[in-house]
Amino acid sequence: MSNEVARNIHEVIKSVVGNTSKFLPLHEPTFHSKENEYVKDCIDTGWVSSVGSYVDDFERKLESFTGVKHAIAVTNGTAALHISLVVLGVKEGDEVLIPAFTFVATANAVKYCGATPHFVDSEKDSMGIDPLKLRNYLSSNTEIKNNECINKNTGKRIRAVVPMHTFGHPVNINELLEIAKDFKLKLVEDAAESLGSFSGGKHTGNYGDVACLSFNGNKIITTGGGGAVLTNNSELAKKLSHITKTSKIAHKWDFVHDEVGYNYRLPNLNAALGCAQMESLPNFLELKRSLASKYEKAFQNNKYVDFFKEPKNTKSNYWLNTIVLKDEYLSMRDHILEITNDNNIMTRPSWKLIPNLEPYSDCPKMDDLSLASYLEKAVINIPSSPYLGDKDA
Ligand SMILES: *Cc1c(COP(=O)(O)O)cnc(C)c1O
Repeated sequence: MSNEVARNIHEVIKSVVGNTSKFLPLHEPTFHSKENEYVKDCIDTGWVSSVGSYVDDFERKLESFTGVKHAIAVTNGTAALHISLVVLGVKEGDEVLIPAFTFVATANAVKYCGATPHFVDSEKDSMGIDPLKLRNYLSSNTEIKNNECINKNTGKRIRAVVPMHTFGHPVNINELLEIAKDFKLKLVEDAAESLGSFSGGKHTGNYGDVACLSFNGNKIITTGGGGAVLTNNSELAKKLSHITKTSKIAHKWDFVHDEVGYNYRLPNLNAALGCAQMESLPNFLELKRSLASKYEKAFQNNKYVDFFKEPKNTKSNYWLNTIVLKDEYLSMRDHILEITNDNNIMTRPSWKLIPNLEPYSDCPKMDDLSLASYLEKAVINIPSSPYLGDKDA
């Protein structure tokens, strides 16, 4: 039985990606634009580090693509999350609501502030935070005192909520914004996976107080390592720009730093790569949607899995294509992973739930994390590099 299921899934993926003599990774970076030219320019001119025109160019490109007023380029997505929480006033002793089903960086960033992640469940349609469950949970477990949300069980202040757009699929952001308003929470969008994803016609990252992007090697565009903070709030943008550059007051020779700063500025060398990648982004998005629709067709009416489709009123970048095992076939997962990986097709389960990881095992969480637990067992990511969308299946 297990064999039959695994072989079926392998065949369906193969019908889309073709025969693979070489190992096919989950998501490969693609360089077919001006990457060489721009990076060489940095080396030739000597502008490789924390100052240079590519950083500014890259930020302006991110702003015009996403429609968010301000982009601040930083060293990676984790740093973007950390510094966002810092400027929104997350302090030692605070709690921050994050999905149980996310990449560990979301939780780590909270810890860097001396705060505690507080884990909440996901919903089926987006895999992101379930707004209905969150509202009910906050209604019974918190009280508003002096305009702050206090966890009645721990006595601690809940300062912010960090929804994540899972595998590029936009979360139910409008509902979450309402909740943030009602419960006096700051909202940070973890948009590390959703560059090129739109919700209700607006690019993700336009909704929260701030949003964070990642340009790690496996993301939809890459700068080697890199990230950005997006915000429509000019005051916050100024603060972010200052604090990520060691909080140095501009001066011809003096070193005056007016608060504890961070060395989080993205180097020019990385930004050069980013500028070229931004020029390719529209093409990547087209190819990735074409790949996703091939998978969708190939998995239509599949007995064992559902292909995960973008939520209603959103346009996803389909960063990582995802199949979700039906309840009765959960036990087949490892066999599917084995057969596909043994046959040169990389597939991967999703993350372990963060509250199940040792460093986060004592953190507060919803009693009911049932959907997140199901996703932990049921999700399989399948090859998603843009060039795969090019082949005729
Ligand atoms: C990639 C990722 C990050 C972190 O980005 P880095 O650039 O690798 O630090 C954060 N959150 C999520 C959901 C991610 O997928």
